[in-house]
Amino acid sequence: GGSPGGPYRVVLAGESGVGKTALAGIFGGLPDGAPREDEHPADTYERRLSVDEELATLILYDIWDQGEAGGWLQESCLQTGDAFLLVFSVTDRRSFSRVPQTLLRLREGSPHPDPPVILVGNKSDLARSREVSLEEGRSLAVMLSCKHIETSAALHHNTRELFEGAVRQIRLRRHRP
Ligand code: GDP
Repeated sequence: GGSPGGPYRVVLAGESGVGKTALAGIFGGLPDGAPREDEHPADTYERRLSVDEELATLILYDIWDQGEAGGWLQESCLQTGDAFLLVFSVTDRRSFSRVPQTLLRLREGSPHPDPPVILVGNKSDLARSREVSLEEGRSLAVMLSCKHIETSAALHHNTRELFEGAVRQIRLRRHRP
């Protein structure tokens, strides 16, 4: 069900420090992904964007870190999300190694039978401190049957593609017979 225009609820998940807030800030249209000094950093952004010549309203939630693992806040994230962006940092192997476990929680906790999940390898600009290769990210995504993209919140690289990809994944699921 649901209209092709949304609103689509997308939840940022993943370990602390991987760049979820930076990505959310870009989505919110902040100039450099950093919270402005004159306002409290927002954790929910609602924006309209045109994807494949169709307008969509996307609500992005950046509240995953505020809850404890397994706590009520993360549970409510699982209930809320129509799709999940599971972010790790390509400069932090530990954040990558936690992906399968977190993905399992997303899939078990979601009311949707097979919610769209995009595995996001962020900080692709930090070439010299990279600990996870593009190929490793890709093959984990294949193994876990989710989409994969590398982004750099610092350079705004692939960030628009990420949010458009989330809208496309949700539309695909909803239009499935
Ligand atoms: P969160 O805990 O997942 O929300 O992570 P943050 O968005 O707070 O980012 C943690 C740190 O990584 C901050 O200092 C960010 O400026 C930095 N950061 C986030 N994304 C990138 C990126 O793509 N490239 C670089 N170089 N730094 C980033």
